[in-house]
Amino acid sequence: MVGTITLNSHCPSDPTAPVDASFLPGPVLLLGAPGVGKGTQAQLLVTKYGIPQISTGDLLRANKARGTELGLKAQAIMSSGQLVPDAIVNEMVLERLREKDVQRGYILDGYPRTLDQADFLDETIADPAFLPRLPVIAISIVAAYDQLLQRITGRRICATCKSIYNVYTNPPKVDGVCDCEGAPLSQRSDDTEPVFIERMKTFEEQTAPVIAHYRALGRFEEADGNQGVEAVNAAVETALFHLRNGRSG
Ligand SMILES: [Zn+2]
Repeated sequence: MVGTITLNSHCPSDPTAPVDASFLPGPVLLLGAPGVGKGTQAQLLVTKYGIPQISTGDLLRANKARGTELGLKAQAIMSSGQLVPDAIVNEMVLERLREKDVQRGYILDGYPRTLDQADFLDETIADPAFLPRLPVIAISIVAAYDQLLQRITGRRICATCKSIYNVYTNPPKVDGVCDCEGAPLSQRSDDTEPVFIERMKTFEEQTAPVIAHYRALGRFEEADGNQGVEAVNAAVETALFHLRNGRSG
């Protein structure tokens, strides 16, 4: 049975919402360009299926905060201005995948980012000790360049109540002023076209080989991100069911 989720962008997800236990989502790599709403979509899947989101950023922060050996190594490398090598990231993910809450699946965010990481993950979870015994599937939320650009450059934020507006799609009643308490709206310094172009370039360069990897294995689908949150959610779920049900055995 496929349940529906009530969405209200102004309210946090209901933590008491029933978890859909009738479908085993397994490991899902969610991909999406800046501004595509990947975080929102990941959160919807997390809530619906009661599975965790595993992000390398969160893992790095958690390991640093706990002062683990991996965290200290990563910190030393990052403070010298270098990227944390695959071996350390892989090890952090491996530890995370040994925890109990991943047994029905998990949403991967920002990992695997390289072919080496993708190979490592595929080999790791092929070991029957890792639950659920399902391969990684990848879903990319795609939207038109101009729409993404508008979502980023049109974004305005109220520093007082944290409301988020968009001058193109969700403008305040009075230009430049928050509807809630009348505070002035501001634009984040990196919500500009040059920064967006740079981030898109990086995103495309980084994800192309990972997408090619999963596509070649028949474990990749795109979801149309040129629509509202609920419709994108439906498209992501369609891709998810298709990729899982198409799998034999
Ligand atoms: Zn406000």
